[in-house]
Amino acid sequence: MPEEKIGTYITYHKIRLYTTEYLEYFNLTSIEFNKLVLIYYNIILKYPEVLENTSYIARTIIDKKTMINIKTGKKPDDYFETNAPSRIRRTACTQAIAQAKSYTTKVRNANKNKSIPPNPAKKFNLPIQLTKELYKIDNKKIKIKLYNGKEWKWYESSISKWNIPEDANLLSPKIEIKKKVVMLVIPEKCIVKNLTTIKERMEKNKDIRICGVAFSGRNNIATCVIIDKSGRFIKAKFINEGNKYKNIITKYLRQIQRSEYKSNRKKKTFETNKQYWKKISRNSNYYCNLVSRRIVDFCKENKAEIIALSNVQCDTEIVIYGTRYNSSNLRNRITKYTKIKSFMENILMTFIDMKGKINKCYKCNELIERNIEKKTKKVIKEDKAICESGHMIDYFFNFAMNIALNCLKKYS
Ligand SMILES: [Zn+2]
Repeated sequence: MPEEKIGTYITYHKIRLYTTEYLEYFNLTSIEFNKLVLIYYNIILKYPEVLENTSYIARTIIDKKTMINIKTGKKPDDYFETNAPSRIRRTACTQAIAQAKSYTTKVRNANKNKSIPPNPAKKFNLPIQLTKELYKIDNKKIKIKLYNGKEWKWYESSISKWNIPEDANLLSPKIEIKKKVVMLVIPEKCIVKNLTTIKERMEKNKDIRICGVAFSGRNNIATCVIIDKSGRFIKAKFINEGNKYKNIITKYLRQIQRSEYKSNRKKKTFETNKQYWKKISRNSNYYCNLVSRRIVDFCKENKAEIIALSNVQCDTEIVIYGTRYNSSNLRNRITKYTKIKSFMENILMTFIDMKGKINKCYKCNELIERNIEKKTKKVIKEDKAICESGHMIDYFFNFAMNIALNCLKKYS
């Protein structure tokens, strides 16, 4: 993985719009926007070769296929009537291209694996994407172009707060509507400067500290251990959120099981279960954010500038609950979130090759034996290991220490 000297990351500002009067218009706009996306989507699927171009070129081709030729006044075959402003048409088309691309990829993969290809979408429910021309912000008020059922007009609503710095590099925002709450989500592109590479940091800073992190599928989701440049142990932290997380997820999985058992009507079950899957996904996200936040905060408090992770996992029991579509490894998501958060704090993350080093005692390098009695759940808490020289250590503490020490070795 190349190490960047200057990096960018995206952060999101969420601002609530108070829109009781126009709430309906937001909903109408959302429906209209998604209708447009669907029209474009179906046209694109008629000409899938369009997708081989960049998004910008693809859009130009689609425009030609759908808009009246200004010079000749001719209506193309795929012409359709709409009074949406050109900016809305454009963002809808961009969204449609992305959706069509993802669909054709899924079909291609299904054909490759000889499984049944998915059906094209019949409906979209995407957030409304805005461009600079479609909204204006001015002193706690926001003006947005909305569809009122007949035409597109400017509407004004008050906003909850506006504490975004003036020089912020804001990207195109989107509008999210959840029941009666309308939120404006504005991405900001931030730049982190003066980032040095890990190697440079290790050479220049004699007081540098490294935090080794070991993940597990137990209550102790992550074990963090900080060492200094001489390899001396400074501080450890055990992030014990695993059981809480597991209990919540198990609860929803049981409910899903129960509703599948009760009902024979598959469609109905699917709808009911959708909310449970959403809750599972939301909880996974919450815990990944929580754990990654604790890791980065711990590094900040103890002045560790490098986070070291293993490229192999030490615990087979890693939690694997994700979403309905993707039961991905929780470890991967925590890693991703930790990377983003640490980047914002100018902490660098690196992966250390730990193949063949998992079961070594960090004190004497002898083999360790993991002492887990699987008979009762209580014993799992005490995940002790013992090495051939008799060092009694916590298994995950030992692994985190090993990662940190190997990181030190790699860069010195
Ligand atoms: Zn030992």
